[in-house]
Amino acid sequence: METEELIRELLMNIGEDPERAGIQKTPSRVASMWEYITQGYKVDVEALLKESVCDDEYNQMILVKDIDYYSICEHHLVPFFGKAHVAYIPDGKIIGLSKIPRIIDAYARRLQIQERMTNQIAESLERALKPKGVGVVIEARHLCMHMRGIEKQNSVVTTSTMFGEFHSEDQARNEFLQLIGILNIHR
Ligand SMILES: [Zn+2]
Repeated sequence: METEELIRELLMNIGEDPERAGIQKTPSRVASMWEYITQGYKVDVEALLKESVCDDEYNQMILVKDIDYYSICEHHLVPFFGKAHVAYIPDGKIIGLSKIPRIIDAYARRLQIQERMTNQIAESLERALKPKGVGVVIEARHLCMHMRGIEKQNSVVTTSTMFGEFHSEDQARNEFLQLIGILNIHR
């Protein structure tokens, strides 16, 4: 069944009239929106990383913070969204800074759970760069929690994945967390 037809049925199932003027075009709008917000499935992350990795001697922490992302909770099909922060300590290889938001989008624009997305971003950088350390922190507001009144409004869920020196060295991890302005982390 086409997505448009599914949305028409959904509208009827919730007691709406799909022929009502205001929502006549809603099924086609929703179908094209779903195509956009799930386009991450079509991105070849490995290839994206491969084409943008280059050799470099820079050996200090590289941090890209406050990257906006929007994803979809796979349990409820409603958005979760917020900021992503990615840091790594290179070991001979770096990646173009503009590629990091694209990697985040590749994993965010599909059905997700926040914990898995955090891991996937960290693991993809780990594989491509073999860095001395990589850290990913994701902050999220989950509409499935807010809209159903499960969490207090404004609560933010934070997840982190730390590999290498960010895992083993307090100094590296604390520097990262300080730079992104986070004091308490739930793993
Ligand atoms: Zn949910």
